[in-house]
Amino acid sequence: MSIQDLTVYDKLRAVPFRGEQVAAVTWDYEEAASAGFPRWTDMTLYRVEPGSSCAYRVQIVARSVVYHGIGGCPKGVKLPVGMLAKDDDRYGFLAACEQCLPPDLDDLDDNAIVKVEQDLPELHEFADAAALVPGLLGRRKSGGLTTKLLAAAAGMDQDIAAALGNNPIGVHTK
Ligand SMILES: [Zn+2]
Repeated sequence: MSIQDLTVYDKLRAVPFRGEQVAAVTWDYEEAASAGFPRWTDMTLYRVEPGSSCAYRVQIVARSVVYHGIGGCPKGVKLPVGMLAKDDDRYGFLAACEQCLPPDLDDLDDNAIVKVEQDLPELHEFADAAALVPGLLGRRKSGGLTTKLLAAAAGMDQDIAAALGNNPIGVHTK
């Protein structure tokens, strides 16, 4: 891959920059559904163009297709079913909350309101690979995904491979 114009998100704030994608661990709706996870996490690691304020950016997105009933759990954003149906890709994968058990979307009319969980993007910035590796592995919810992302990144980026080798937590890479 080569350097290009990219945009990542820190909550609602768009952060445009020049760089390249190093590695990604992501699921589309189909993959999440077949794994049986209505909530999942996507992670994408970018190398930032030299001379920028940081060397790496990691976009972590908490994703969800769960919707709640209007009188159900205190979660999600209120939206009419008709508007949800406009997103063809996502609509078919929306999943009723198993706690508040809202009606099936196909049984509701277009004006009915449900509360849909939204994707939450989080941005992490790192000065160099030596900061990136412990920074990602030390995250509270760090797990198999982080390991996978770093292992993939190490194959693409010598600095990350070296930093992994130096890290006491360690990730085995070939
Ligand atoms: Zn609910």
